[in-house]
Amino acid sequence: MLKLYNTATRKIETFKPLGDVVKVYTCGPTVYATPHIGNYAAYTYWDLLIRTLKMNDYKVLRVLNLTDVGHLVSDGDEGEDKLEKGALREGKTVWEVAEHYIGVYLSNYAAMEFLPADILARATDYIEADKKAVDLMTANGFTYETSDGIYFDTSKMPHYADFARLDLEGLQAGARVGFSAEKRNASDFAVWKFIHEGENHAMRWDYLGRPGYPGWHLECSTIIHEELGEPIDIHTGGVDHIPVHHTNEIAETYAAYGKELARFWMHCDFITIDGQKISKSLGNTYSLEDLANRGFSPMDYKMWLLSGHYQGTRNFTFDSLEAAKNRRASWRERIAECYQKKNTDDNSNFDKILEAVNNNLNSAEAFAIVDNSELTLADWGKIDALFGLRLIADTPDVSESVYQQIAEREAARRKKDFAKSDEIRDLLLKQGIALKDSKDNSTWYYNN
Ligand code: AMP
Ligand code: ZN
Repeated sequence: MLKLYNTATRKIETFKPLGDVVKVYTCGPTVYATPHIGNYAAYTYWDLLIRTLKMNDYKVLRVLNLTDVGHLVSDGDEGEDKLEKGALREGKTVWEVAEHYIGVYLSNYAAMEFLPADILARATDYIEADKKAVDLMTANGFTYETSDGIYFDTSKMPHYADFARLDLEGLQAGARVGFSAEKRNASDFAVWKFIHEGENHAMRWDYLGRPGYPGWHLECSTIIHEELGEPIDIHTGGVDHIPVHHTNEIAETYAAYGKELARFWMHCDFITIDGQKISKSLGNTYSLEDLANRGFSPMDYKMWLLSGHYQGTRNFTFDSLEAAKNRRASWRERIAECYQKKNTDDNSNFDKILEAVNNNLNSAEAFAIVDNSELTLADWGKIDALFGLRLIADTPDVSESVYQQIAEREAARRKKDFAKSDEIRDLLLKQGIALKDSKDNSTWYYNN
């Protein structure tokens, strides 16, 4: 039985799918800069969610969006446009920037062993559908026009504050004047932005007789409407999405289609590095490449992420990453031992592991069970299917000839012919196979 924490109710609930196929939507990346390791936290935990659903025999239809249309740097509708900012920085067009970083994300997703989404939805492919959604919201009386764009009137939606338990009066009292003076309520947000004459905004589409572009939140409610249909089973994102982005997605879906958006909402918390938030000014925006340069693979990092829980801030240190790397190496050694023993035991301990994960994705507890249980090769295969850690792929069975070499070396060692034994050991090492000697025998493991 799968249990998940639902942000909408603030409770752990038993998961029940709405239909035959579990519909899942994940808010994806804005493709404007090299992602830092924090950006992979959410995708790792949602990859675990998808794998867990599959392990529980659910059919899953999963959409991930790529925000390739710029949205503004702040959660409000002000500030710089992220893609325009990227284009300026790199001397490229916004389209080239988006194309480049989509490539970076997709190759890193593969390196992180994430199951590919069934539908990868680029925001710019849904502009016509966005306009139709704004038409509907307007026809239903939820919008008003300012000199800046079409705004959503949040006072028209009685339960606007419910999802995020927002304090609207406090928000109103703290609202800034100036740019947003035309806004009726502090929580109102743009569903469509106008581009004024002389304004340098490369991504633009005609709507209502003038150039403009969609407000940030709109792409997600539109893509869900077009590709999945509401309500979906599970909507995922980061905790930072709760008060604005997801609240506004819910509002748009209610205003345009009169529907609930999602039944379960799941949010993962942020990771800090050495106790600090990740930021350029602190110089700690490590990318996967930076980790590789320090000798850590994407799988080591995924191992680190999964050895904690998706809820609650987690603190990243290189020492803890080293520990995760060693833990993964020890698991691979155990797989190697299974090969060596030609273990065909079918006494499985996998159910206990799945049970832990079924308890609101408690991968930390599942990992402790892996550490402390006798496991068969079949178990390890399932562990790989559940966590996507390339444990078996990175620990292939050794060929008969390697077994022979190990046996020869073992014989040389027993005869105290150390020159020969060292020679074979070095030969094996060249093939990436290291030996660990004990009094009675030596075990091999993959040394990469
Ligand atoms: P950004 O491109 O910086 O706006 O980040 C995109 C998304 O990545 C955010 O909305 C968060 O959900 C997630 N994210 C950013 N930083 C972190 C972090 N330190 N830990 C976990 N998730 C993060
Ligand atoms: Zn979204």
